[in-house]
Amino acid sequence: MRTTLTPIRCAALALFLLASTLHPGALARAEQRPQLRVVATVAMIGDVASEIAGDRAAVESLMGPGVDPHLYRPTRSDTARLLGADLVLYNGFLLEGKMTDTLVRIARSGRPVYAIVEGVPEDFILESAETEGHDDPHIWMDPTGWKHAARVIADAFIAVDPDGEAHYRARADAYTQRLAELDDYARAVLATIPADRRILVTSHDAFAYFGRAYDIEVVGIQGVSTVAEAGLRDIERIVETLVQRNIPAVFTESTISERNVRALVEGCRARGHALAIGGELYSDAMGSPGTYRGTYIGMIDHNVTTIARALGGDAPAGGMHGKLTHDAPKR
Ligand SMILES: [Zn+2]
Repeated sequence: MRTTLTPIRCAALALFLLASTLHPGALARAEQRPQLRVVATVAMIGDVASEIAGDRAAVESLMGPGVDPHLYRPTRSDTARLLGADLVLYNGFLLEGKMTDTLVRIARSGRPVYAIVEGVPEDFILESAETEGHDDPHIWMDPTGWKHAARVIADAFIAVDPDGEAHYRARADAYTQRLAELDDYARAVLATIPADRRILVTSHDAFAYFGRAYDIEVVGIQGVSTVAEAGLRDIERIVETLVQRNIPAVFTESTISERNVRALVEGCRARGHALAIGGELYSDAMGSPGTYRGTYIGMIDHNVTTIARALGGDAPAGGMHGKLTHDAPKR
């Protein structure tokens, strides 16, 4: 019997040898310390967790692009992934309303389970517009709010992996700096929208934190959760506002059907007002993995840039660092 190395094995061996030459210490460390397995519900949390974890953890998110967390029911394989995790991260305030039983079960099994909202200061939190006594879960829409997420995630990592404290703190600090830069960009370009056009109409009420942060009036066709459908009267009321105030554009969301937004366009057309769809925003899910819009910072950059440009403000087409032009979404 002959033993030969296939091209794939040869390539793998060459890479291994190259890696050993370049980072002998890194390889030795990786062998000694198994990576933490971290599971996040929504990808906005998973992305920040990967940024903070670096090579110390493998992070996966249960909900990909276009998935609506308000309606998402965990599959059997999700439950298995959660039960196999060293750390579970979720948003809370019923964002993952149909996962509550599963999350309770995972916590009861003794797994560390952390809710981002637990680390957000009381005075930051907005009450849900239409459901009294419920808090609005869409904290990530304000980058200064998502820095609380970075802190909660770093604390959670340190609790399960105390040896990595300095690593996690340094990475969380660096990421928080990037969030501050994102906030500065958003503030600057959104300030250029003329005063009489500072109204953001979207599919559902995900933008209250965004509106508060950047002084923009926000109207969601559906409520804070997407569980309840919008009625004809809601559509008529919003058409009235759009016509009265001569608003040029409204926005769709990647996780929600465009039907209601199209009804606004039709309603305005019938009244002689040319209303445009200003673009698709990422509210409750990010863009495709591996693209800039598939990161939290890219998602917010996309939203801010799209909103500013469609409402008559001044923002570069490529966004904060020109990255939006490289992987523009297909539709
Ligand atoms: Zn939502």
